[in-house]
Amino acid sequence: MSGGLPVVVLNANTKREHGRKAQLGNIAAGKAVSDVVRTCLGPRAMLKMVLDAMGGIVLTNDGNAILREIDVNHPAAKSMIELSRAQDENVGDGTTSVIILAGEVLSMAESWIEKGTHPRLIIGGYTKALEDALQTIDKLAVRVDLNNRSELLKIVQSSIGTKFISRWSDLMCNLALDAVLAVTIQDGDRKEIDIKRYAKVEKVPGGDITDCKVISGVMINKDVTHAQMRRRINNPRIVLLDCPLEYKKAESQFSIELSSEEHWTQILKTEEEYVSRLCQDIIKFKPDIVITEKGVSDLAQHHFLKNNITAFRRARKTDNNRIARACGATIVNRTDEIKESDVGTNCGLFEVRKIGDEFFAFFEECKEPKACTVLLRGANKDVLNETERNLMDAMNVARNVLLDARLVPGGGAVEMAVSQALMVKSNSIQGVQQWTYRAIANALEVIPRTLAENCGAKVIRILTELRAKHASDPEKNSSWGIDGERGVLADMKDLGVWETVAVKTQTLKTAIEAACLLLRVDDIVSGLSQKG
Ligand code: ADP
Repeated sequence: MSGGLPVVVLNANTKREHGRKAQLGNIAAGKAVSDVVRTCLGPRAMLKMVLDAMGGIVLTNDGNAILREIDVNHPAAKSMIELSRAQDENVGDGTTSVIILAGEVLSMAESWIEKGTHPRLIIGGYTKALEDALQTIDKLAVRVDLNNRSELLKIVQSSIGTKFISRWSDLMCNLALDAVLAVTIQDGDRKEIDIKRYAKVEKVPGGDITDCKVISGVMINKDVTHAQMRRRINNPRIVLLDCPLEYKKAESQFSIELSSEEHWTQILKTEEEYVSRLCQDIIKFKPDIVITEKGVSDLAQHHFLKNNITAFRRARKTDNNRIARACGATIVNRTDEIKESDVGTNCGLFEVRKIGDEFFAFFEECKEPKACTVLLRGANKDVLNETERNLMDAMNVARNVLLDARLVPGGGAVEMAVSQALMVKSNSIQGVQQWTYRAIANALEVIPRTLAENCGAKVIRILTELRAKHASDPEKNSSWGIDGERGVLADMKDLGVWETVAVKTQTLKTAIEAACLLLRVDDIVSGLSQKG
């Protein structure tokens, strides 16, 4: 027993907020984060200029990129920012929409929390409404013909219409689609598209954006190890290694005591023999190019040069993987285990070229490469970084379509259609749940509303018109949304603005589930001394 004395459990520095205060604080934080990116949605989006921690600037309208750079204190705001990252990693698009939607879903709960409704009731209703919303999206989905290239291009185009690179939209869409098709592997019914690993974007400042291209193979930022090695080879035989081609050094420091000069010669000879043996193992297979992830000693270079072999050292693991896929080679760990089947022969042309001040090795004209490099050129680093982010978005859209060919109309149309469906459904529900359905329905309107806001339209009028349009004939008018360029109502089928079902369902799920998670919090305990 404490004998009536107070028991100190929490440290004096600990800050604690609980109950309704914590929930309202979380809602405010969520809304604040979503306000930051609100003007970045749609084709008339504004850019943000963000100073990063190292003092560099980031110029972008990509929700995820903006939020990654800003420094926030509130734990709920941090968790909102994580949302955008999760969305980026999962589907690679809709990063702005997810934040805006989550902020709106949270703010809808505000008045009910203030009135004292238990968050569990709200969460239960939200979750049910989410299920219904996802079903409605499924019903609205249309299939696209994956063999129709121009149709695929249109879809990718509508995703980058909102980005900086939209001026070169034709070029960029073709780049994105070519890169994604190159790395697509169809194995029966299973499709594998790993953009992050096999489609690498290389940015080389200088030149013009129109010089960007997808290389039918791989390019790496490296030069040969010795100036006299060949820098251009047709149909090369390529050996890839991830072991060093030099004498093995002991792991930690060591010393050898020698008592005669002979011993010294002996040591040198052993080293020489070891490296020569490694080289002979490789030379046996008559390769034209040897690439290793580790070092290549001077002696090994000498052997290679004598046998007319071009060598590269310290290649990155990721680059080596892509070269392996593009050229049909296998990376070998021990030189005495090389087999004829490990040698890559699919590359048509190898050449080292100088771009700007740097040397790049190109492995081009590969037969069915299955890995590629997208070479980006542009005026400066900022332009290139934004171009890369936009291109990644476009590639992700292309990947999403190829993996799941179902589409829904964009421009706020699908959100409005789902909103209407939830409104109708809410009429048949009683109690708090009825209200939660309506809350989600209202929250979804934030997407068409923001699109209209961002192009300076008369928001209330246009939104009322859109609502009326959908209500008058939910089946026929479900593809009507906001023309984000002109701020008027438009049929997205005519405008050609589509989004993939994968992105839309993920956006809705992530936004609503994250909002529910934040509402479930009733205690915020921070152990740090009062930083903010
Ligand atoms: P996100 O990071 O969420 O993808 P974007 O800035 O790319 O954000 O905006 C995407 C939204 O803009 C989607 O809802 C999409 O349907 C809409 N959109 C894209 N192009 C148009 C257009 N021409 N007219 C209206 N809406 C558009």
